[in-house]
Amino acid sequence: MVTQVTTGNDIMGYSIAIDGPAGAGKSTIAKEIARKLGFIYVDTGAMYRAMALFFLRRNIGENDILRIEQECKEAKITIEYHNGEQVVLLDGENVNGLIRNEQVGNMASATSINEEVRKKLVSLQQELAASACVVMDGRDIGTCVLPKADVKIYLTADSRVRAERRYLELQQKGVACDLDTIEEDIKERDYRDMNRKISPLKQAQDAVLIDSSKMTPAQVIDTILLLVEKTGFK
Ligand code: C5P
Repeated sequence: MVTQVTTGNDIMGYSIAIDGPAGAGKSTIAKEIARKLGFIYVDTGAMYRAMALFFLRRNIGENDILRIEQECKEAKITIEYHNGEQVVLLDGENVNGLIRNEQVGNMASATSINEEVRKKLVSLQQELAASACVVMDGRDIGTCVLPKADVKIYLTADSRVRAERRYLELQQKGVACDLDTIEEDIKERDYRDMNRKISPLKQAQDAVLIDSSKMTPAQVIDTILLLVEKTGFK
């Protein structure tokens, strides 16, 4: 079943912003919260990844600013929900299965510093949030995309813990990997995301900091649901 963005909830426009570094568990947490509340889950990283795939397919280098700025305008990125799962379409093609790898992740991190890329994707994200109740995760949701979000979370964890989680995930998928390399990669991506000029990753002033290093996903989810309840949302 394919649906346009709709929500079962009456309160239109309620939004929960979850930002944080790579591997902090944002998507697992955001997905589950969206399911529990009947909201739409918007994975903004997937949009940057789809854009990165578009550049890779065109052999555009991460430093080729001119082509990135010109050609990003030609990428048709759309979001659909298939049985509640977010599907990212690139020029009409479902690319969900092609964007979850290191090459695309690194290209996304490198090209997301570009203002034209961000402008295009931020407006798509704001359109989605205007039409439904959302749990949106990314790097700049609370600071830039949804500055008026009802609940803002900055979810982080120690870089070693994040690397261990990713290592386990990859091992379960049968992908050979090395823990130290994963941690280095995570640190490099954090550095780039936190130090870029436009919309760097940082905690919004009114965001609640959750360090999940020693928490289970269920504990993180309960903490966030409590914050939602405190806003008066039933
Ligand atoms: O979250 P994920 O690892 O899928 O995101 C891939 C990259 O996209 C991040 O490293 C980051 O550079 C970029 N991104 C961003 N802003 C967002 C979401 C992701 O710059 N809101």
